[in-house]
Amino acid sequence: MRLILLGPPGAGKGTQCKRVVEKYGIAHLSSGDILRAERAAGTELGSKAQSYMDSGALVPDDLIIDMMIGAIKKASTGYVLDGFPRTVVQAEGLDQALSNAGEKIDAIVELQVPDSAILSRMTGRRSCPVCGGVYHVENLKPKIDGQCDKGCGPLVQRKDDTPDVVKNRLKTYHEQTAAVVGYYEDKFPILTINADQDIDKVTADVFKGLESLVR
Ligand code: ADP
Ligand code: ADP
Repeated sequence: MRLILLGPPGAGKGTQCKRVVEKYGIAHLSSGDILRAERAAGTELGSKAQSYMDSGALVPDDLIIDMMIGAIKKASTGYVLDGFPRTVVQAEGLDQALSNAGEKIDAIVELQVPDSAILSRMTGRRSCPVCGGVYHVENLKPKIDGQCDKGCGPLVQRKDDTPDVVKNRLKTYHEQTAAVVGYYEDKFPILTINADQDIDKVTADVFKGLESLVR
C-alpha cells in the first residue's frame, strides 16, 4: 500500500503514521525525520538543509525530491509519506518518479486542524532523538516525565518547535504547502479527517476511512 499523509505542521501526521505503519506493515517515510538523521550524521545534505529547517523555511525542492525518491525505491512493502510532498513542484516530481516505475498512490489522507490548535501542540511536543518517538507535555505524556517510553533516554524539544519558528512554519504551510491538496484533488480519492479531536479518535477515523478506500 502506498499512502500520502497531508496536513499542517503539528496536525498529528507523525503520530498517526506510526499507528498506520504498525497496522499495515509499511514503511514510514518522514521527510523531516530523514533530514534530521542526515543532520545528525553530518552529511552534505544535512548541512545544506540546516539553515532552512532552523528558520522554518522549506529545504529546496531538488534536494528533497532526490532524497525522498531514493527512500521510496527502498520501501518494497509499501509506505506512507509524511511531510512530502510539501510543494506542487515536489508533487510533480513524485508523480513523474511513480509513473516511470509504473506505480501509483492508493490513497491520500488529509488531517485538518485549525491554526489556533497548532501552536500549543508544537510548543508542547517532545521528541526522542534516538527512536523518533513523539510525545506531548499534556496530550500524550511519557510514562516517566521527560523520558522516552522505549528506554532510549531523555526527550528533547526540537529547536524548530519554539513559538517564533512555529509561526514561520505555519506561514510557509499556507503559502507553499496548502496548494498540494488542490493539486491532488482531481487525481486521487482524498480522505479528509477532522484531526482536531482526541488522538485515538483521529486514529479510528483514519483506519475506518482507509478500509473503505483501500480495498
Ligand atoms: P506533525 O507530524 O503533523 O507535525 P505530530 O504527530 O508530531 O505532528 O504531533 C504534534 C504534537 O501534537 C505532538 O506533541 C503530539 O503528541 C500532539 N498531538 C498529535 N495529535 C494530537 C491530537 N489529535 N490532539 C492533541 N495533540 C496531538
Ligand atoms: P512537522 O513535524 O512540523 O510537520 P517536519 O519534521 O516534517 O515538521 O519538518 C521539519 C522541517 O524540515 C521543515 O520545517 C522543513 O524545513 C524541512 N522539511 C521537511 N520536509 C520537507 C519537504 N518536503 N520540503 C522542504 N522542506 C522540508
